[in-house]
Amino acid sequence: MELDWSNLTFSYRPTSCHVEYHWKDGRWDEGELKEKPFVTLSIAAECLHYGQAAFEGLKAYRGEDGKIRIFRMEMNARRLIQSARRSCMAPVPEELFCQAVERVVRANEEWIPPYGTGATLYIRPLLFGSGPQIGVAPASEYTFIVLVVPVGAYYKGGLQAVRACIVDEYDRAAPRGTGNVKMAGNYAASLLSHEMAKEKGFAVDLYLDAAEHKYVEEFGSSNFIGITHDGRYVTPASPSVLPSITNNGLQQVAKDLGIPVEVRPIDFEKEIGTFAEVAACGTAVVITPVKEIVRLSTGEAFSIGTGDGCGPVCQRLYDAYTAIQWGKAPDTHGWLKVLD
Ligand SMILES: *Cc1c(COP(=O)(O)O)cnc(C)c1O
Repeated sequence: MELDWSNLTFSYRPTSCHVEYHWKDGRWDEGELKEKPFVTLSIAAECLHYGQAAFEGLKAYRGEDGKIRIFRMEMNARRLIQSARRSCMAPVPEELFCQAVERVVRANEEWIPPYGTGATLYIRPLLFGSGPQIGVAPASEYTFIVLVVPVGAYYKGGLQAVRACIVDEYDRAAPRGTGNVKMAGNYAASLLSHEMAKEKGFAVDLYLDAAEHKYVEEFGSSNFIGITHDGRYVTPASPSVLPSITNNGLQQVAKDLGIPVEVRPIDFEKEIGTFAEVAACGTAVVITPVKEIVRLSTGEAFSIGTGDGCGPVCQRLYDAYTAIQWGKAPDTHGWLKVLD
């Protein structure tokens, strides 16, 4: 496959195949690799009408040794089970999930970017209610697909800081809603504020808790990390934040580096000015430094003071974390599945 690997963006393109499984009458089938990047769906499919769908996102990396490493797929498998439970879908057993991921990655070998380009193979598992359903009830049939797409390194010449804003008019997730699972509808609910943010020149939108708009929750599609002036890693504890696997891993790496970690509520007004560094974290980019946070409703602007680059603590975390992903540092926590 000849692609301009070093200049790939984060966008869809068809690859060799995806893998597709169906659930009916209480069991999953054997699944099938399909070359055509389409699914055949009833016009009454539950997912289309009632949004019964959840997804995952993870990556495979080609190391300097040529080996393919898939990062923490069991974590994604478990999170998809939580999403399935919350939306009454047939869960995909962890073993089936991991087999599906391995199967589609192997079948798309030629689409895994070469080492040194910074590009990776993004893996997108998707589970949805495909049975026809007009009366509101869980679907009687489910489809699980895993597709892959090569994606570029987000930032070519090092990590670049972005500006964030708070759009107080809209919330992403209610306290006992679905914010803590990766349901498709959460994204539909956050598109408008994200577009509003983008229009005003902000790359990311930050959400406060829906009940009081007092505590920091997370960005539209990534978790919030603050580094205090005395070098502590602080990230919000909230029942409506999506449990980011990147945040979980960065916390572990922080502990390994001797950086104290605090998972607790963060009072926006009281604390946002106390951080030496702020970053967004998620699979796609790992760490995005945030240089400024503007609250659109009041016009208040909080400048973080790390300029256009990345603060030193976030940079250390990023380097240590990505070294594990690329197979350059020892995998001391058993995070990698190496394909042979
Ligand atoms: C997927 C997602 C994240 C990041 O999770 P990772 O597992 O680190 O990729 C953060 N917030 C939201 C709302 C998400 O959907």
